Amino acid sequence: LASKEVKKEASVVRISENLAIGGSELVVMAGPCSVENETQIIESALAVKAAGAQMLRGGAFKPRTSPYSFQGLEEEGLKLLAKARELTGLPFVTEVIDPESVDLVASYADMLQIGARNSQNFALLKKVGQINKPILLKRGMSMTIQEFLMSAEYIMSEGNQSVILCERGIRTFETATRNTLDLSAIPVLKAKTHLPIVIDPSHGTGNYHYIAPMSYAAVAAGADGLIIEVHPDPERASSDGPQSLKPKKFAALMDKLKLFAAAA
Ligand code: PEP
Ligand code: MN
Repeated sequence: LASKEVKKEASVVRISENLAIGGSELVVMAGPCSVENETQIIESALAVKAAGAQMLRGGAFKPRTSPYSFQGLEEEGLKLLAKARELTGLPFVTEVIDPESVDLVASYADMLQIGARNSQNFALLKKVGQINKPILLKRGMSMTIQEFLMSAEYIMSEGNQSVILCERGIRTFETATRNTLDLSAIPVLKAKTHLPIVIDPSHGTGNYHYIAPMSYAAVAAGADGLIIEVHPDPERASSDGPQSLKPKKFAALMDKLKLFAAAA
């Protein structure tokens, strides 16, 4: 179902009345890795909106490598995201980490994220395939493109055709960056599938210094959107501070991005 052989024209996934991903407009989703408290998420939402982002991101259920790390505010986090949406008008994307909480997350979110660690959690993929909300499917950290497309197929074969693919970096021998952002996935996926493609330069590099250049490169290579971590106070972030941009740096990135988007 994801194959270009089945459907030639590019899919446009509708997020809200005024927003769609996969059309002519580049869509930028931005916000903190985790929702931490009301002030933090509201401040983040206002800042990313002012800079021109069309969507807010924020994790309420966090899939942390260590069980002792911050696990997220759960439903309280979803409520805060909804409050930020009410205030700014920005739809939001947030992660769902198990089949049991899909209905709860879907009752708040505009788009559900399947994280890299759950990209082959087939029970979860099937469950989000049965709901009527767009899904942002991240590539697993050791996943081939073919396996990535098969995970999309798990969702689509259950009925939900609103799938957006997200390249967020893969594991390689290189340690200078947190992951190796595979930008070649953009043209490769464009040749194989009609689904929209979003790039996550934050998890892709793990270092805020590298986010702007990789964002420009992603747009030049044909990405339909970007998902970027932005935090008002990265030094004190509960997760992923080192790869989070301060609002001012994000605004500068957005300004320059317009030039690349216009040229692409
Ligand atoms: C995230 O978006 O904060 C996240 C955990 O991403 P990934 O699943 O790509 O690591
Ligand atoms: Mn993160």
